[in-house]
Amino acid sequence: TQAKPRQPDLKTSLPGPKTAEIMARDQATLSTSYMRPYPFVPDFGKGVWLTDVDGNTMLDFFAGIAVSTTGHAHPHVVQAVQRQIEKFTHVCLTDYPQEITTSLAERLVKHVERPGEKWRVFFSNSGAEAVEAAVKLARNHTGRQHIISTMGSFHGRTYGAITLTGSKTKYKRGFGPLLPAVSHVPYPNPFRPPLGSTPENCGQAVIDHIESLFVGILPADEVAAIIVEPMQGEGGYIVPPADFLPGLRALCDKHGIMLIFDEVQAGMGRTGKMFSFQHFDVQPDIITSAKGIASGMPLGALLAKESVMTWPVGSHGSTYGGNPVAAAASHATLDLLEGQVKHEGCGDSLMDNAAQVGDFILGELKGMQDEFPFIGDVRGRGLFIGIEFVKPDGSPDGALRDQASMMMFEKGLLNLDCGEAVIRISPPLILTREEAATGLDIMRGVFQELK
Ligand code: PMP
Repeated sequence: TQAKPRQPDLKTSLPGPKTAEIMARDQATLSTSYMRPYPFVPDFGKGVWLTDVDGNTMLDFFAGIAVSTTGHAHPHVVQAVQRQIEKFTHVCLTDYPQEITTSLAERLVKHVERPGEKWRVFFSNSGAEAVEAAVKLARNHTGRQHIISTMGSFHGRTYGAITLTGSKTKYKRGFGPLLPAVSHVPYPNPFRPPLGSTPENCGQAVIDHIESLFVGILPADEVAAIIVEPMQGEGGYIVPPADFLPGLRALCDKHGIMLIFDEVQAGMGRTGKMFSFQHFDVQPDIITSAKGIASGMPLGALLAKESVMTWPVGSHGSTYGGNPVAAAASHATLDLLEGQVKHEGCGDSLMDNAAQVGDFILGELKGMQDEFPFIGDVRGRGLFIGIEFVKPDGSPDGALRDQASMMMFEKGLLNLDCGEAVIRISPPLILTREEAATGLDIMRGVFQELK
């Protein structure tokens, strides 16, 4: 049996002496750009639990930012990594094929290919690199330059990726000049509909807005791609209306534009389907993936239709991308996500578990909204859930969110903010209903104190 988070006396012991000592050294030597939302220094993890260097065990609703899909130190993943390390750690996929990455690519494309349609894979080490590759591929394939991205989006921190990223000016201030030929359009957030629209028609309003740019501002035949998160992550865990992505598809088809879905955060089973766009009737041209793909080993992937992946031999590559140890972890992750290997207490597959436990959490949180009026919105799919804090006038309450986040931590729940006033729930997909209930109890206790 696993330790439960220590509560409610945890607060008095935070930060513990070892935590304080390591945090001081961290502050003294590591980059000034790192954020530290609360004092936590992990020592080891098991399943959905992380124990800090002072022995406090916390419930992990953070999962290394939606990465640790299979939880911490999953025996099936550990064994796969160990087996591969004993064979070889690296040979460079740019030059030599390796069965472990070939079979991983074959496995990944099975999740997106439709009858008569073939896909290919390029492997990177991270989400940002997959996004860079997607932009390069779209430009190379179309011979066009312009990229349209969305406001509130996050696509990474490399130059191309921060240019596409549409949230927080601090990501860009002082770093310019950025990539030329990038525009941003609103994201259809049904809770805060843009462009004077309604929750119902906000998707169409954004599509109409893009069409209006094509008349007089931006020639559509110079647009290489539209990149969009099918469910927006860092921007606030937002699910767009059902007609938005199919509408974008039709727009792209009309103008010969590549449709790129950035699945780095919402993909790999988190929403209850392998990719979050699969909740809608739509097919992109290019997909970027990373984070949950290898349970925390560094791996990113660019998936593209064969008809689109036309860049010449040697035109793009990576020394470490598709590293075989990361690929081994990814195979093991897929075994659990697809249900070829079962995780006790998680039904047929981790994807099914994410759907079911996610529905349970969503239902419980929605049930709390009447009691706690500062919970303005509860939204998401599967274990991709956002709670938006609002002021009495309905505007976002970032200060209350920050306070709630710290209080949850003090009661033993690791959590992470996103958007302007949102706490995200992005736990490992092995979370059971009982563990979810433990997290919800902590949340309810915090909400009661805040009332
Ligand atoms: N795209 C999305 C949707 C993301 O959420 C992130 C990371 N938060 C990235 C890209 C960048 O990934 P990485 O940090 O692995 O470069």
